Amino acid sequence: MTDHLLKFDNVSMIFKIGGGLGLFGGKRVVALNDVSFTIPDKPGIVALVGESGSGKSTIARLALGLLRPTVGQVLYRGREISEWLKSDKYRFRREVQAVFQDPYGIYNPYYKVDRVLYLALRKLMRINDREYAQSLIVNAMKTLGMRPEEVLGRYPHQLSGGERQRLMLVLSLLIKPRLLIADEPVSMIDASLRAIFLENLLELKKTLGISCLYITHDLITANYVADEIIVLCHGKIVEIGDATNVIRDPLHPYTKLLVDSMLLPDPRAGKAIEAASIDVRSLSELKPEKGCVFRYRCPYAMKVCVEGVPDLIEVGDGRKVACYLYGEQASSV
Ligand code: SF4
Repeated sequence: MTDHLLKFDNVSMIFKIGGGLGLFGGKRVVALNDVSFTIPDKPGIVALVGESGSGKSTIARLALGLLRPTVGQVLYRGREISEWLKSDKYRFRREVQAVFQDPYGIYNPYYKVDRVLYLALRKLMRINDREYAQSLIVNAMKTLGMRPEEVLGRYPHQLSGGERQRLMLVLSLLIKPRLLIADEPVSMIDASLRAIFLENLLELKKTLGISCLYITHDLITANYVADEIIVLCHGKIVEIGDATNVIRDPLHPYTKLLVDSMLLPDPRAGKAIEAASIDVRSLSELKPEKGCVFRYRCPYAMKVCVEGVPDLIEVGDGRKVACYLYGEQASSV
């Protein structure tokens, strides 16, 4: 028995880009560097936040078994995910569900959207009775405030991005996973449906007792749904803590930058979300070769930040920070 659902244990992920054989061929890109965190086996939403290119989606793909780590282990309920996929694939797929940024790819454009739901019920839940499946689908849609008559029987292109995304949560309600991996689930839907989607997510946590890894570049939506926040910067975790504490009192200079970019705390605030959401894509070029991953942008950078990489250390209240300004590391600089 383990007390966690998902565990990243000293995980590094290195991609090779370009041609050539062996060590010297192509270019090596370190997407994740020694990442460790857990998602406990209890209802809750853990938000993984960071800018584009910080490694968030790599974590999603590792958690779903779509990638294998270069170094370290990714465990689900104490077993490596690669083992689950070898020996218990359908159980893993039923217990760990994904909601991606653009759900369009899930649907076959030549079939009505209902097919995805019926197929999942048949393959993962062994429900072959069409009428019974229909009643489950209708009930699940109503639970999440959707009107079945406006959605069922339509083709993917006839629904909005928000409706397609909410159908993925209906799927979760039907399959009843233990863990949901939601990778930027609201970034491509408009503000009004975004709030409804987030409410639906909170409803799933309450009614099904699921855990969720909510991956986003947007601290405002993270603040709205998350119990815990993990901050990722250039493939390194720089801060972990209770969501309210992290937002109210960010410690790491990078988290402070993210929090400072928030203007309004409520995702129902429509256009203000767009204004507050930072897009620092161009800054992903600023990854240092050595030292602290944030040192090029950090107003507090010191000599030691160039030479060493700060450990992620406990600083009280369950908070962990990787910065030479905190803990015992601070006294030695
Ligand atoms: Fe800034 Fe140094 Fe802390 Fe990195 S370790 S965040 S460069 S003060």
